[in-house]
Amino acid sequence: MIRIEDYAPVVGQATIDELYLLAKSLEGKQVQNINSTAVGGGVAEILTRMIPLLNELGVQARWDVIKGDEKFFGTTKKMHNGLHGVPTEISDDEYEWFLEINRKNAEEMSFADIVYVHDPQPIALIEKRAQLGKNWVWRCHIDFSKPVQSIWKFLAQFIKLYDAAVFSAPAFARKLPIPQVLISPSIDPLADKNKDLPPETINSVFERFGIDRSRPVVTQISRFDYLKDPVGVIKAFKIAKKHVDAQLVLAGGGATDDPEGPIIMQQVKEEADKDRDIFVLFLPPASDVEINALQRGSTVLLQKSLKEGFGLTVSEALWKEKPTIASAVGGIPLQIAHKYSGILTHSIDGTAYWIKQLIHEPEYARKLGINGKQHIKNNFLITRHIKDYLLLFISIFHREDVVYLS
Ligand code: UDP
Repeated sequence: MIRIEDYAPVVGQATIDELYLLAKSLEGKQVQNINSTAVGGGVAEILTRMIPLLNELGVQARWDVIKGDEKFFGTTKKMHNGLHGVPTEISDDEYEWFLEINRKNAEEMSFADIVYVHDPQPIALIEKRAQLGKNWVWRCHIDFSKPVQSIWKFLAQFIKLYDAAVFSAPAFARKLPIPQVLISPSIDPLADKNKDLPPETINSVFERFGIDRSRPVVTQISRFDYLKDPVGVIKAFKIAKKHVDAQLVLAGGGATDDPEGPIIMQQVKEEADKDRDIFVLFLPPASDVEINALQRGSTVLLQKSLKEGFGLTVSEALWKEKPTIASAVGGIPLQIAHKYSGILTHSIDGTAYWIKQLIHEPEYARKLGINGKQHIKNNFLITRHIKDYLLLFISIFHREDVVYLS
């Protein structure tokens, strides 16, 4: 089991001592995280790593997952797309079912001193706040800057019941009647997905999938989701391939709260059209070492999202010192300074151009990777994230002493 002290060689002992000091102010307090899936996607990834560490620091942290059915998750996926600005309609019946499922979950749950609710799916658990009491924080991982108005209006009635809202990037924040806090997500450098790997492990994963490491490999790791644009990735690769002899890997799985995966997978297979240099890999949950190895063994990593929350896969890529090409959307520009710690693109053609350039200029690509890793080390590791959480929780228990900037 990984202990908080194990992070000292990566981030320094002073950082660890500071976490213990902050956690002391929360002794005896319970913090409950609630989201809608235990596996798949960035939120589950972060909670899996963070909950044990918070407990080790002395904060009683737990994690609950709401239960829903196909209709509920179909509706919440529509909400997710609509909040990202994709034109979407949700019927009154779907809204009603959304509320019904939230009410059912609220009846079956017990709530802790701080209830930390992630994303829209469980947002209405707070509906009976007047009876429930407790301290409530809404943690939004989505880029909210241009939402479909009707969906935004529906959610806003619940958001205003919370004590505070937490966003991943300044651009996502909206005008709200409650305090807003900025906390970026993070990766865990010691997790199987990010730790150093021996070359044999990397080679064996590539061999298992039949990918030739003697030729350049371009990889995107993502759920098969329209907004991750896997079809756009293949189109960009096909253009680049006219100039470079490379292979493409699209690897990912699904999430239990995302019903769209199989449809997108089918579109991807059609676009790949039996090209022997395109590998479409469906990864089961707990493929962390495989993901790590695919990232470490690739020549260039991509994250060609059309919309993005934060984009943890970008931090994961940069942590491995990999030249990374990613769309300038959501939280990705927080992670990549264009032409310094990676490449930001806006189109299929732009992505194709940079795939070709980085394969042709390995020395330049190497420098991008080195700068990228340093940037992640300074800003997006789990220890910084835990510190931000602790400060937020402390501020909630000492609300009267805190001055929020509006
Ligand atoms: N991931 C995974 N298996 C997959 C696809 C993705 O474990 O098949 C992980 C990925 O490594 C990252 C997270 O899921 O840690 C995705 O987070 P991100 O913020 O990039 O996107 P989200 O899926 O939350 O929109």
